[in-house]
Amino acid sequence: MPQPESHLFEVTLFVKGWQEPVLDLKLPVWTPGSYLVREYAKHLQDFSADTGDQRNRLLARKISKNHWQIETANTSEITVRYRVFANELSVRTNHLDSTHGYFNGAALFFFIPGWEQQPIRVTIVSPKPDWRVTTPLRSLPGEPNTFEAADFDTLVDSPFEIGTQQLYSFEVLSKPHQLAIWGQGNANPERLIEDTKKIIEVEAELFGGLPYDRYLFLLHLSSNGFGGLEHKNSCSLNYSRFGFRAKEKYNRFIQLVAHEFFHLWNVKRIRPKALERFNYEQENYTTSLWFCEGATSYYDMVIPYRAKIYDAKNLLDNLSKEITQLQMIPGRKVQPLSESSFDAWIKLYRRDANSNNSQISYYLKGEIVSFLLDLLIRARHGNQRSLDDVMRQMWQDFGIQEIGFTAQQLRDAIESVAQTDLSDFFNRYIDGTEELPFDEYLEPFGLRLLSVETGEAVPHLGLNVNAENGKTVIQFVEAASPAAVAGVDAGDELLAINGWRVTAEQLSDRLKDYKVGDTIQLSVFHQEELRTLPVTLGEPRLSRYQLVPIENSTQAQQQNFSGWLGTSLTKL
Ligand SMILES: [Zn+2]
Repeated sequence: MPQPESHLFEVTLFVKGWQEPVLDLKLPVWTPGSYLVREYAKHLQDFSADTGDQRNRLLARKISKNHWQIETANTSEITVRYRVFANELSVRTNHLDSTHGYFNGAALFFFIPGWEQQPIRVTIVSPKPDWRVTTPLRSLPGEPNTFEAADFDTLVDSPFEIGTQQLYSFEVLSKPHQLAIWGQGNANPERLIEDTKKIIEVEAELFGGLPYDRYLFLLHLSSNGFGGLEHKNSCSLNYSRFGFRAKEKYNRFIQLVAHEFFHLWNVKRIRPKALERFNYEQENYTTSLWFCEGATSYYDMVIPYRAKIYDAKNLLDNLSKEITQLQMIPGRKVQPLSESSFDAWIKLYRRDANSNNSQISYYLKGEIVSFLLDLLIRARHGNQRSLDDVMRQMWQDFGIQEIGFTAQQLRDAIESVAQTDLSDFFNRYIDGTEELPFDEYLEPFGLRLLSVETGEAVPHLGLNVNAENGKTVIQFVEAASPAAVAGVDAGDELLAINGWRVTAEQLSDRLKDYKVGDTIQLSVFHQEELRTLPVTLGEPRLSRYQLVPIENSTQAQQQNFSGWLGTSLTKL
């Protein structure tokens, strides 16, 4: 990276001992953990191959979007040179500027088909004397800035951070850990490390130890970023630089840590069959992401509670918020959870104005289904068994050996822990779109789901708006809602109600001037055309759900509750 401000990584690839007349090189189209074909090759430029002497160029041609082929002309040592544009700051892309370089192997390095198991050495040439290299890869003694990956998967699984990042080292259960922070903000590293240690200890206890020699947390502080990408021995985190002061935001960060760390077991080692061996050239389909991501999301709420970073009320409030979010998305009645997982590649990562009408996130519904499964197992076994035992069994049966599991094997594991047939549960809530029966699963724990009205009811219109450059733009129109029936379209600019201008900020308040059944005249610009549409307002929607204790709970319910959360139901 001789000119970091150009955003161009310069890569030189040395292939030695090659015996074939041609050398094929392929660039991954996606990176594990982020289920979208990202076409990393679109950022590649200036490709050339030679014998090591740039004057002796070798003939190279492109076979497909991500496939290059070199005629080796009987040379066993081939040097390939190319540049990769890196100006996207996210955990799954590359970013290079005057402050640092960050890359993911899948977005930077070729693999040689058939030779993915060979070890690979990487040497980083630092552009500035004070830039250092941080990566989970093993460094080679005596060779500065040189690292070795056992195979291509390991290379892809090992992000690099190069710059003046702050570096902190700490130990948990006798294993070395590092936290590297790029960017400025209001994070307090000592506090982060203290809480991260607690998270690591609680998760290690759940799975019975830490299955790595060394672990790296790579944290990017950015303006409004949020994201994480899990790896076997590290994770990349992107978080808003001033998001560490307010309690709620800090907790969200801790959940992100708990989430990505949990993945080192669930999804990095306990993998669905389709992800046992990654195919870097195309989509890898699985119906089990609801477990990989959903169960992980459920635990990212539970683990900080067990680590005593927040209390039981906090946990229940968090679950209530997630349930509210799920119940507000009409797509939950359209797309089954297993299908949401399968179609991640074309839907979850490619959202559009209709997404909330037609799909449900396998993170969101997956975590709530995991919650219900936890309650189901606990209720049947008096808290002597739980979803923890499912995690441990999946770890024993598949994770340790890294054998891929099928959807049926996952279900078998859950059923064997629960000691009951779950065909009905799977048919209805995982492969079907039936509403989740919250109260049925909450009742044994002395809880119920209360629908809460906050403030004055707003007659239902069925659209969401956003203020954009002084305009009020309709982002989403709920299928079959009053607005949809009247012909209002996502993308329309909202102008007025009954001839009077209305802004995004005023909309909800202005609707309170009308009653259910009233017809209002809604004016919009639809592709520059002024339209005034009569809309008949519907029944107000409830604003949120809350998990609350039921009145007069029995002793059995109180026992179940304290067995689950280790605190008293009556103290809530
Ligand atoms: Zn995740």
